[in-house]
Amino acid sequence: MNCLFCRIIDKKIPSKIVYEDERVFAFEDINPQAPIHILIIPKKHISTTLDITHEDNELIGDLFRAANKIAKDRGVAERGFRLVLNCNPESGQTIYHIHLHLLAGRVMHWPPG
Ligand code: AMP
Ligand code: ZN
Repeated sequence: MNCLFCRIIDKKIPSKIVYEDERVFAFEDINPQAPIHILIIPKKHISTTLDITHEDNELIGDLFRAANKIAKDRGVAERGFRLVLNCNPESGQTIYHIHLHLLAGRVMHWPPG
């Protein structure tokens, strides 16, 4: 499959790895939108949130647990952080392998752009 994030997981494309376990992979966003901008992805290829099935219940929890761990490790858990998951073109999704954006280190505004 010609998926950029699958290739990053396979380490065929380099990335700044932040966290890795059996099911989850996290790395620095190449074009950070905040002082901390990390992408948290399942090792299983899932194109969009619309493709998440019941079978993925535990995996989706794993993504959030990894995000929490990273936020704590980076010292921003108490200050606050934002998790963003875009789905399909109008949201701004450009890579069709689901990813949680973990954004932190500055005040976030609402509504998002
Ligand atoms: P989205 O627009 O929600 O699909 O987010 C895709 C994100 O992937 C963007 O924030 C990009 O900056 C990021 N990105 C694209 N290519 C790479 C790469 N090779 N390494 C790290 N992050 C990337
Ligand atoms: Zn993929």
